[in-house]
Amino acid sequence: MQRLIKELSEVKNKNIAIVGLGKSGLAVAHLLSYLGAELVINDKKREEEILDDLASIRGSIKRVAGGGHPPDVLEGVDFVVVSPGVPLNTPSIVSAIYKGIPVIGDIEISWQILNLIKPDVKIIGITGSNGKSTTSTLVYEFLKKDGKKVCLSGNIGYPMADAVFRVLNKEVDFDYFVLELSSFQLEGIKSFKPDFAAILNITPDHMDRYSGMREYIEAKAKIFQNHDKDSYLILNMDDKNTVSVIEYLRGVYLRKGRLPHILYFSRYQKVYGAYLIDNQVRFNPREEFPESVFSEMEKTVLSVDTFRIKGVHNIENIMAASLLALCAGCKGESIKEVVKEFPGLPHRMEYVREIDGVLYVNDSKGTNVDAVVKSLESFPGNVILIAGGRDKDGDFTRLREIVKEKVKSLVLIGEAKEKIANALGDLVPYYFEKDMRSAVLKAKEIAEPNDIVLLSPGCASFDMFKNFEHRGEVFKEIVKSL
Ligand code: ADP
Repeated sequence: MQRLIKELSEVKNKNIAIVGLGKSGLAVAHLLSYLGAELVINDKKREEEILDDLASIRGSIKRVAGGGHPPDVLEGVDFVVVSPGVPLNTPSIVSAIYKGIPVIGDIEISWQILNLIKPDVKIIGITGSNGKSTTSTLVYEFLKKDGKKVCLSGNIGYPMADAVFRVLNKEVDFDYFVLELSSFQLEGIKSFKPDFAAILNITPDHMDRYSGMREYIEAKAKIFQNHDKDSYLILNMDDKNTVSVIEYLRGVYLRKGRLPHILYFSRYQKVYGAYLIDNQVRFNPREEFPESVFSEMEKTVLSVDTFRIKGVHNIENIMAASLLALCAGCKGESIKEVVKEFPGLPHRMEYVREIDGVLYVNDSKGTNVDAVVKSLESFPGNVILIAGGRDKDGDFTRLREIVKEKVKSLVLIGEAKEKIANALGDLVPYYFEKDMRSAVLKAKEIAEPNDIVLLSPGCASFDMFKNFEHRGEVFKEIVKSL
C-alpha cells in the first residue's frame, strides 16, 4: 500500500479517525493533533470519559462517538487509526474497510511520520508469542552499552507515537528504535519496514481473538512483509511454526527478487546465525555480510554460565537479541557486559524470596500455556504451581508431560481453575483457592524444603486483577508478608 502521508504538511486538516482510546490511541491523538489533523474519536467508553482523556487537545477534535462502534460512525474520514486492543472485525472498522477507507494501526502511522522526520533511523522490530519484552529490552541495553542513541517503545514502555512526538519536538534524538510488536499491532501495518526483525516463537496464544493458528501466524509474518535484500530477518529454527512462516512467504519474495538476509537461532544445531554448543553461544555469519558485522560475529562467544538471567527460554532470548544487535553494528564486548549484569524484567521468572528452604518465584507474565512450559522447564522439579485466571482459550492438556515431570501440586485460582483441573487434575493433587492470598497460604502450607512455589498462571489476569503487573505485585506483597 502507498503511504498515506508523503509530507508532514499533508496531515494538516486531514480528517483522521482514531478507534480505541487506550494508551497508544491517546498518544496517536496527541501526535496527529500536534500536526494539525482534525480528529474523529470512537471508543466503547462513554463520551464524558473520553473527553476527560482528551482535555489537552480538545481544539483538534471534530467529533466524538462513545459508547460503542456503530457501522456509520467513521463516515467521511480520510483514514482510520485503530488501536491494538480493538479487533478488526469491530462493526465500525468492517464498515470503513468495506467503503474503501484505509485502516492502519498505531505503529504504521507513527512509522510513516518518523520516516519523514528521520529517514535514517534504524528500526529493530521484535515479535513472538513469548519473550518479546525481555528480548527487546536486551537489544536496547546492548545498543545503549555500545554508546548508541536508542529508544525502546511499541508494546513496551511508552507508545511509539509518544516517542515520535518527542523526536518531532526535539526533546530527544535517536538513531535506533527498538520496537516490541504484538500480533495485534502487526495486523495494522501496511508499509512499515523494520531494518532488522525477529520472530522469537509462535505458539498458541490469543486464540480467543484469532480464528485459528493460521491467522495468528499470518499476523506475525507481517513483520517482514516489506523486507528487501538489505533487511535482516531472524527466526527461531527450533520452532516449527516460526520456520513455517518463511516457507509461507518465500513465493512472494522470490517473485519480487528481494529475499532479505535470513538468520536463525537454535539450541540444537549449527545454523547461519546463533547456536548453542558446549554451553556457549556462538555466531555463524553469512559470507555476504559487511566485513565489520562478519568479523564481530565470528569472534564473539558468550558463555551461558555468565548469564545473569536463567532458564532455557532466556538463552533463546539472548541469542535472538545478540543477533539483532550484532547485525545492527553492535560490538560483541557490549553484549558480553550486559548479559552478565541484566537482572531480567519484573514479573518474568522473578525470584521473590526464600522461606524455610522454599523459593518463591513470580512469573505473573506467564499468561499462556507455552510460557508456563518454559518456566517449568527451567526448574529441576518439586514445583508447587499457582495457576489460573481468565482463560485465553488455552489448551492446558499441553502441560501434561511437563507437569508430570516437574510439578508436585497445583494451586488453582480464577475463572479457569476448573478447566485446568479437568486437564491436569488426574496427574497431581490440586487445590481450588478463592484469591491470591489463600493460594499463597495453601502453597506455603504444603511446601517442603527445596520446593519451589511458582506463580505462572497460563492465563490473563483481568478476572481478578487490573493487569499482570498488579497480579505479580499482589503475589510479591503476600510472599514478603509471610
Ligand atoms: P512477552 O513480552 O512476549 O509477553 P516476556 O519477555 O514479557 O514476553 O516474557 C513473558 C513470559 O514468557 C516469561 O515470564 C516467561 O515465562 C515466558 N518466556 C520468555 N521468553 C520466552 C521464550 N523465548 N520462549 C518461551 N517462553 C518465554
